[in-house]
Amino acid sequence: MKNIMFIAPPAAGKGTQAEIIEEKYHIPHISTGDILRDIAEEHSELGEYVSEVLSSGELVKDDITDQLIENRLKKEDCKNGFIIDGFPRNIEQAIRYDQIIKRLGYDIGVVILINIDKKTLEKRVVGRRICENCDAVFNINSEDSAPQIDSVCDICGGRLYQRNDDNLEAFENRYSLYIEKVTPIIEHYKNLNVLYEVDGNKPKESVTKQIEDIIRR
Ligand code: AMP
Repeated sequence: MKNIMFIAPPAAGKGTQAEIIEEKYHIPHISTGDILRDIAEEHSELGEYVSEVLSSGELVKDDITDQLIENRLKKEDCKNGFIIDGFPRNIEQAIRYDQIIKRLGYDIGVVILINIDKKTLEKRVVGRRICENCDAVFNINSEDSAPQIDSVCDICGGRLYQRNDDNLEAFENRYSLYIEKVTPIIEHYKNLNVLYEVDGNKPKESVTKQIEDIIRR
């Protein structure tokens, strides 16, 4: 199985797509955002620092994320392929990522860029709800994935919450950071001939199909 890196603006559905691919191809989905949200819950100096950065929509320091990603990729379950989501976020991380991959004897595999309109993203960001019990993701602004009751999980009945960075102000921050930092990463992987683009404005199933066409090539 190929190693897959997803690049997409916040709320473009990359987490959802990564989970679909994880389940279908039995490879781990490694999301730096998820790892950092877990750390933010810890009562430690690191936990407090990460929690503050996450609420602001800024990026966590590179030395922390580099270490997290290298330790995670060393694990046995990554030997037959993995999905990396949320990393790299800047060109320096990308260059160090390529070095980590080389050190561990892996290939970069495919880099999949999800293109999507900003207006669609804004709507999704303010509508995203997550189950505090089973982590299922819903969107009250989408016919596709709205829960039957706004604050209750359809799957387990758990309470739905809104991530504290899912507001328009933090989104603006995260989006402009994304454009500024990710453009050089896209160029970098284009030059290495490993970049593939999909249209993220299409329905979820169509995006999955575009992704599968790339990974089966
Ligand atoms: P995400 O779930 O990917 O949207 O990430 C949520 C937040 O975690 C981001 O807004 C950043 O604050 C932080 N984060 C995730 N990945 C990284 C990374 N590679 N480098 C720095 N910060 C990150």
